[in-house]
Amino acid sequence: MKRSGYFLPTLREDPSEAEVISHKLMLRAGMIRRLASGIYSFLPLGLRVLRKVENIVREEMNRSGALEVLLPLVQPAELWQESGRWEAYGKELLRFKDRKDHDFCLGPTHEEVITDLIRREVRSYRDLPLILYQIATKFRDEIRPRFGLMRGREFIMKDAYSFDRDQEGLDRSYRRMYEAYEHIFSRCGLRFKAVMADTGTIGGDESHEFMVLAETGEDVLAVCPHCGYAANLELAEAQTHYEYPEEAEKPLEKKPTPNVKRVEDVAAFFGVPPAKLVKTLIYVVDNTPVAVLIRGDHELNEVKLKKALKAQRIALADAETVQKITCAPVGFAGPIGLKHVKIIADRAVYGLKNFIVGANEPDAHYVNANYPRDFHIEGFYDLRNATKGDLCPRCAKPLDLIRGIEVGHVFKLGTKYSQALGANFLDEKGQEHPIIMGCYGIGVSRTVAAAIEQNHDQDGIIWPLNIAPFHVALLTLNTKDQNLMEVSEKLYQSLEKDHIEVLWDDRDERPGVKFKDADLIGLPYKLVVGKRFLQNGTVELKERRTGETKILKPQEAVSFLKEEIESKKAEGCAR
Ligand code: ATP
Ligand code: MG
Repeated sequence: MKRSGYFLPTLREDPSEAEVISHKLMLRAGMIRRLASGIYSFLPLGLRVLRKVENIVREEMNRSGALEVLLPLVQPAELWQESGRWEAYGKELLRFKDRKDHDFCLGPTHEEVITDLIRREVRSYRDLPLILYQIATKFRDEIRPRFGLMRGREFIMKDAYSFDRDQEGLDRSYRRMYEAYEHIFSRCGLRFKAVMADTGTIGGDESHEFMVLAETGEDVLAVCPHCGYAANLELAEAQTHYEYPEEAEKPLEKKPTPNVKRVEDVAAFFGVPPAKLVKTLIYVVDNTPVAVLIRGDHELNEVKLKKALKAQRIALADAETVQKITCAPVGFAGPIGLKHVKIIADRAVYGLKNFIVGANEPDAHYVNANYPRDFHIEGFYDLRNATKGDLCPRCAKPLDLIRGIEVGHVFKLGTKYSQALGANFLDEKGQEHPIIMGCYGIGVSRTVAAAIEQNHDQDGIIWPLNIAPFHVALLTLNTKDQNLMEVSEKLYQSLEKDHIEVLWDDRDERPGVKFKDADLIGLPYKLVVGKRFLQNGTVELKERRTGETKILKPQEAVSFLKEEIESKKAEGCAR
């Protein structure tokens, strides 16, 4: 491709609409443009990367035995009413009516549509197992679309669904998808980790998330360098290994704390560490208020709270509710004297002595509170986020916390949808059973953004070879020089002939502009044709990631690139 005729509008400056690096760089490198909040157009360079990721996904899904389909984006409300999700899904589901006043939605995911297809077409155990997938547009009306492609409203997903007759079959399908995902993200050249993930309220089945490791990731992962345990922080069990020192219980005392309410401020006020405080958080759990106690230096984990109370819906109470229940403004709630509310606590509160709690009146705290002397707790649960240095729930060595971006998700669904929609099969004896399902998603467009979050420097993107939009940037530093143009044209031809994807910067621009642009769009190699060629017939080949430079004759450069690129491509496919 010649740059002079290519549609590649690069930007010098960071666009103000972008907060994270991948979003900034994708705008600057002319890959995407925003149409509306969370909705983007792909320009030619961006689309090339998206297609590369899609192709890797498609090849690996096909190799795993899954079959490609294409399902409608527009879906009738009836199906969602049958599954119960028309009510349950909430506002992320974009709903609308057609001209005949029938309700429809845009598909945020396709369990309903695929289960409807299968209930009509699959009859017998002989039709199973089956895995179907598609690579298509999803729409989710996210509350806070942000970070460009990372959390869009319209985005590209690969979604796959498995259908099996029994649990062992599901285990096999799940494994196959899990392994396909490992191949996909390795071939994309990404550093990633599969972690155990929360299965929500659907049931106790298994789930893993595939995380691209990047400091800017929204997810926190608890990993054990010793035994390999890896879980999303939402799920990671916080081991209570504290043995609080024996301390004599001191008399309870109420102290004035005018306007001091944040944990750090209360701790500073009394000159104690935050671990000597117990926070009392008022939650509304399925319409009933509950007081949740957690040590001052710990963070409450809402996923765990929801699970512990087997709740459908939980939310932090608003100021008015807090006032009504505790008779005090937010910041002074405490367990002592709290009536008509269930009180539960995180396990790390157990055994703590002489701690500080809110006094349920404005501007006051109790010091030297002690359980069970001063108040009642209905139950202790694991309710907090694990922290760095907490002990691994598997091998009891210290845990590490790292950050990641969720690019894929594998999930054992069981019979939730097959039962709701009546997708059954007949076994050998003619008996009917619900089909057992799994679902498997990859955020294809998010993967493109995640690759940039993980692979960039101050000058721009550094594409892993297999998903780079082109392999080589061919830079002709002076396009007015006939000799340079001739050798460049030859190089361009032979690279194309050898199936090396080359973007030839043949524009009449200053060398500085060409170097800057090449670094910004981040192709793995730069091949520079300049003065050196006029002096001694050589060109410069520079690797984007390492900066390593080779001075070579033009034909040597082509041979070197051919070998390098073929061997790197083969790495992922040699199975
Ligand atoms: P998240 O917790 O990030 O909202 P999710 O749990 O809703 O993700 P799934 O329903 O499992 O995601 O969807 C499968 C994959 O689709 C995710 O692993 C992610 O890579 C991608 N994805 C989900 N929501 C978005 C979005 N708004 N924009 C881009 N990709 C998304
Ligand atoms: Mg989501």
